[in-house]
Amino acid sequence: MKKITIALDGFSSTGKSTIAKRLAKELGYIYVDTGAMYRAVTLFSMRNGYVSDEKTEVNAIVKTLPYIRLKFVFNENLGFAEMYLNDENVEHEIRTIEVSNQVSKVAQIPEVRQKLVDIQKEMGKNKGIVMDGRDIGTVVFPDAELKLFLTASPETRANRRYKELVDKGEKVSYAEVLKNVQDRDLMDSTREISPLKQAEDAIEFDNSDMGLEEQFERIYNFALRKIKP
Ligand code: C5P
Repeated sequence: MKKITIALDGFSSTGKSTIAKRLAKELGYIYVDTGAMYRAVTLFSMRNGYVSDEKTEVNAIVKTLPYIRLKFVFNENLGFAEMYLNDENVEHEIRTIEVSNQVSKVAQIPEVRQKLVDIQKEMGKNKGIVMDGRDIGTVVFPDAELKLFLTASPETRANRRYKELVDKGEKVSYAEVLKNVQDRDLMDSTREISPLKQAEDAIEFDNSDMGLEEQFERIYNFALRKIKP
């Protein structure tokens, strides 16, 4: 069967990864969460004291980039691939609010983007991939056969993220999560390089009032139509 590339972009906490994971499973495709890669580079930079609320040491981050090795390792029990930073499983740590609060600053650095985009292009060179992020349909795979762009109101998204974090046992307030969602939206969509924007040929989904099941069905049908026209 013909293999295609599916690019899934959108604002934070729009449910991109849930949709992308399921899509990949149903189609037997590889799933790549590019946000996890930016988060892993951010965690590395935080541990080394290069980025915090007070500062972002761009030169130090760029200099240490060659020492960052990223890989995804499939976890049979969970049914998806987990992020490894220099052979350490960082899947849990990269999802904390502390990393979320710093990641959009690190993701603005051109050298960081270059390194990660190169890896992402390589991962998708044989197609049969679902990749989610902010610049997949515009920069990483501008020729993707199917491009989707997910949106939802900031309040809906913050609510979802807040519940997820509380379920994981994190101590956060709804106000802090909403602020993080709004700050990242602004930084991600106004940065100079590869800003978050909808590709002209992307199909937009506002899922503020749409259930996950209905949304998945619609997206899955779009994919099938591209695979078997
Ligand atoms: O998708 P997720 O919310 O985990 O992404 C975390 C952050 O990584 C985003 O807010 C954005 O700053 C950055 N990112 C990016 N480009 C991508 C994926 C994520 O700039 N392709």
